[in-house]
Amino acid sequence: MDSCDKRLGMGREITRRDFVGGVSMVIGTSILPACTRTREPEGPIMHYPPGETGLRGSHPGSFEVAHATVDGAQWAAEKLDEHYDLVVVGAGISGLAAAYIHHRDVNPNARILILDNHDDFGGHAKRNEFELDGRLFLSYGGTTFMESTDTYPEVAKQVVKELGIDTGRHSEVWHDDFFDPYGPGNVTWFDKETFGADYLAKGQYGFADSLDGAPLSEEAKEQLIQLFTDETDYLDGMTTDERREVLETHSWSEYLEKYAGMGDEVLKFVQKMPEAAWAIGADAYPAWLAWRNGNPGFAGMDIGYDTTPYDESAFYFPDGNASVARLLVRKLVPTVAPGNTMDDIVTAKFDYSQLDQPENLARIRLSSTAVRLQHQAGNLDGDVDVTYIDGNKGHIVTASKVIWAGYHSMLPYVCPDVPKTQLAEAAKAARSPLLSAKALIRNWHSMANLGIRSAWCPGSFYQVVRFTHPVSMGDYKFSTSPDEPVVLHFWHNPLEPGLPAADQFKAGRRQMLETSFEIYERNLREQLDRMLGPGGFDPARDIAAITVNRHPHGYSYSYDPETNDVAWWEEYWRHDRKPWVDARQRVGNIAFAAHDAATDAMTETAIEQAHRAVHELM
Ligand SMILES: Cc1cc2nc3c(=O)[nH]c(=O)nc-3n(C[C@H](O)[C@H](O)[C@H](O)COP(=O)(O)OP(=O)(O)OC[C@H]3O[C@@H](n4cnc5c(N)ncnc54)[C@H](O)[C@@H]3O)c2cc1C
Repeated sequence: MDSCDKRLGMGREITRRDFVGGVSMVIGTSILPACTRTREPEGPIMHYPPGETGLRGSHPGSFEVAHATVDGAQWAAEKLDEHYDLVVVGAGISGLAAAYIHHRDVNPNARILILDNHDDFGGHAKRNEFELDGRLFLSYGGTTFMESTDTYPEVAKQVVKELGIDTGRHSEVWHDDFFDPYGPGNVTWFDKETFGADYLAKGQYGFADSLDGAPLSEEAKEQLIQLFTDETDYLDGMTTDERREVLETHSWSEYLEKYAGMGDEVLKFVQKMPEAAWAIGADAYPAWLAWRNGNPGFAGMDIGYDTTPYDESAFYFPDGNASVARLLVRKLVPTVAPGNTMDDIVTAKFDYSQLDQPENLARIRLSSTAVRLQHQAGNLDGDVDVTYIDGNKGHIVTASKVIWAGYHSMLPYVCPDVPKTQLAEAAKAARSPLLSAKALIRNWHSMANLGIRSAWCPGSFYQVVRFTHPVSMGDYKFSTSPDEPVVLHFWHNPLEPGLPAADQFKAGRRQMLETSFEIYERNLREQLDRMLGPGGFDPARDIAAITVNRHPHGYSYSYDPETNDVAWWEEYWRHDRKPWVDARQRVGNIAFAAHDAATDAMTETAIEQAHRAVHELM
């Protein structure tokens, strides 16, 4: 460790679980004294997944069996004396919803087993908990919020209602004004490695006033202001069809360069803008999609597509949609936690030992990777053998019906009953890598001093740094005073700009798993040091805990390997066949859910696909 690392606080004791070359190593075993791993006040330390820090999401130990299976590993397995009416593979929102809907619509007494390879349920919808000086701090490990809830499909609205979620309460629970005393709060952080000097500019995208001192050429400043504020029609004189042709054949970046005349500095500025919502940078983000999403450069031009206005309705739990997953789990396994409302779920303490009790109608078996699904004796009307690996041991349970709510791209390696042509379509489900890190800081005076609520960092490792949701619900209170600790959110997409999108996802996934916690940590500390240091922030003193949520298999998009076209949006898919529809056809007693089945990474889609899969099997 050099003096720079010491200053950043890299020497501070904090759980670091590194994963190098397939081996999990615990490098430091203790964490900061005031941060506990468990919310159990006394007694033995229980494994409590949401309270774990370090590498989470795809944590070490969760993915190795699946990767070995894809690489051709064969597993010995012992048959258990367990038969279920339904086995669900995947405890993400889709798998949990499938189990819930099966009990509701098919048989309330059905015996259901849900398998998931992670040590926690929820899939992307994971919860991060921190505790400091006896106070609980919550955040989202992945899925951020319930978006456009007014236009959820009816089947998803129904589930949301039955879970007791009233999405109309957004303004009641969201402290929109908590930062008002410290300024508008949106800033841009220019880093010296990308732009030549570190500089904090007030305002994020349409920020003409604050560019004066920014490390950009005068020409780039003018271009940025033009791009974000004026209404130039860069395709003036073209017909609607010609405009559409341009937008359908260029990336956003290419379009901005070729038609809007933007230079390198502006292209660097916008490169990461689409990454959080679409998991891809401007170099491979289609211009038509940028147009559809209202990104700058199109001045309301008509390209002949029908569009529906964006529905602004939304609801944010403090832990994102982990609360939706927790509400589903509490319905499925009532003994797991007390309470019955959307408020009490926020602080409800979950007893993970209840998840897989023999007497449960629904059992949730974590750390269990499904490696084979096969109808017995090749009879597609008969029972299905489900093989899973838990630790190093293989087990087989039998099921009358199975719903696969895991990654569709794994199906070719686990499901021999599915016709080869269908498996080839399933293999086209490309999932994007996304990383959402969280840091608990001891107070937020530096953010108040500098007027930073949300920072856009176009060149930095973490392109977004901001407060997590300012939401108070039930017994949970958000930190509205700068004296209080708060959880900050950091966003990072490992990608390989220049390659087609699906190849970038593959390369990014590899990068994500090969990067050690130490590197994620050092980047986080260094970025905060440079950005917040002038406001009084000391990373060694002020960071209490860090959790890095890796999602190597994030948003699912089907793609066409011949053309490299990605099905970003079903409505605008130009090919006759839809791989995700061909891939989701029921085979005997196995049906296919998860959002892969709709090439649309949204919570409501995961629920809708669960509903479809359950009803197909009825
Ligand atoms: C970082 C991030 C932020 C997001 N933000 C939002 C948002 O704000 N709003 C929104 O609506 N959507 C958001 N999404 C998308 C949304 O989370 C998903 O569309 C939805 O939750 C997906 O649910 P799922 O059950 O289909 O898949 P997943 O959540 O991926 O769950 C599938 C589960 O199956 C498990 N599994 C896979 N294979 C196996 C196997 N062989 N054996 C056992 N288990 C297996 C996986 O490990 C996983 O736990 C976000 C996604 C990510 C990654």
